[in-house]
Amino acid sequence: LTKKQKLFVRQWIENFVDRESRSFPANEEVNALATLIHSSPQIILEYIHNKFALTRTSSATSGYSFKEKNRHLGASLDAVERYVIACHRRRAPNDGRRKINIGPYRCTYGCGYRTKRPFDWRRHEETHEPQELWLCHFCRQNEHQNPFLVNRKDKFLSHSKSAHKDWDPEQVSMMSKLDFHAKFDPKCPICPETTDSWNDRCKHIIRHFEDDI
Ligand SMILES: [Zn+2]
Ligand SMILES: [Zn+2]
Ligand SMILES: [Zn+2]
Repeated sequence: LTKKQKLFVRQWIENFVDRESRSFPANEEVNALATLIHSSPQIILEYIHNKFALTRTSSATSGYSFKEKNRHLGASLDAVERYVIACHRRRAPNDGRRKINIGPYRCTYGCGYRTKRPFDWRRHEETHEPQELWLCHFCRQNEHQNPFLVNRKDKFLSHSKSAHKDWDPEQVSMMSKLDFHAKFDPKCPICPETTDSWNDRCKHIIRHFEDDI
């Protein structure tokens, strides 16, 4: 793509992609865009995939609605939604969170992260699409504005240890774990296969990376 074409795609994304859901443009939209700028849909797809952290929705996930699936969270719903949206925002490849950036396991959300360890890879994927959430049971009653909310149990336990010393961290963790229904895209970002759960998705993608070693 030329500079001009890239600029056009960028502006198109800024104007037409929904700010909240950040969902990947549909095939028809990409085709239309290709016609507009005299390029091929495949090139545009690749460019969008590499440059923007958009969520791919497929027929199997298009039924997912954050609010519908998580309505039972009640008063916490807004805080949880803000958290998840923040996770969906793409991070720059040099945002300082990564000291080591080599290895066969690559981020599938296009931020440039790489690692040598599958465990770290999965944890990283979950920074983009959190699967489990803890909303501190105690903080939530005291500070309505910003209760402690996190997608990693280890981080939650350390919050509990430092902020609620009189309580057993495991117990606070149990009281704080949300019944959160995470979004999950069944489509493999590397091959045409689909998977049934986040766990299967991760195992499947790890096998691709291991085939490359
Ligand atoms: Zn990433
Ligand atoms: Zn707390
Ligand atoms: Zn695959």
